[in-house]
Amino acid sequence: MHDSFVSVLSSGSCGNSFLVVRDGSAILVDAGLSARELERRMSVFGIGPSEIEAVVLTHEHTDHVRGARRFCADNRIKAFGTKGTLSLTPLEGVEGVPIKAGDTVLIGDLALEPFSVMHLAAEPVAFKIKAGDSSVAIASDLGCVTEEVVEHMRGVDLLMLEANYDEDMLANGSYPNFLKNAIRSKHGHLSNADAGLLSSAAVNSRTKDVVLVHLSMENNTPQLARRAVGESLRRARKKVSLHVAEHGAVGGPHRLA
Ligand SMILES: [Zn+2]
Ligand SMILES: [Zn+2]
Repeated sequence: MHDSFVSVLSSGSCGNSFLVVRDGSAILVDAGLSARELERRMSVFGIGPSEIEAVVLTHEHTDHVRGARRFCADNRIKAFGTKGTLSLTPLEGVEGVPIKAGDTVLIGDLALEPFSVMHLAAEPVAFKIKAGDSSVAIASDLGCVTEEVVEHMRGVDLLMLEANYDEDMLANGSYPNFLKNAIRSKHGHLSNADAGLLSSAAVNSRTKDVVLVHLSMENNTPQLARRAVGESLRRARKKVSLHVAEHGAVGGPHRLA
């Protein structure tokens, strides 16, 4: 028996994976590290691969699926994803289970609600996950903030969202212009300012913690992300604990109830 928590195994372009645990149920949202590294990092939280019931994928980009095939095949774990994501993710020898934005999926004691996001991928989704009376939203690679995104993220107990770049660092940084524009576009990533707006809109009196994830190594710092989102939350008079997942680092556990 474990209690309920969410941990960041890694976040950022070097690899994304979140461990969601409720009592006897555990899943990974994304598997963007090698299978070996996923296992090593989940062991920090007392979870072994045999306890993982499913790997749930948000989209097919390598930083989200790098270890999915190996980890699932070695441990006979199913991979859940939209049809678009499954069709473009290398998953030979793995049973894929198609999911769809808007359709709730039950995995053990967890209820997952996938919702569509605008990121440039085949059929990307983010997740609201209910664990009993508690809920978490995990949303990186958002592209932009839509009404649908705000609706799904509003009032969760634990809000994990992307704060990818600081606008000035991106503008003055070394990336070529086409890449800067792709990141800024509505199919790219959220800036710290966007993350501030989204968290201010989504946080309500239920929400206890906000965790900023998928920070760019090149175009952001944990300090800048914390300052921008913190100011936005203060202006909106929203009181929550604000945490920042450092690029590539393990974070949490963030308790769910
Ligand atoms: Zn992506
Ligand atoms: Zn990504």
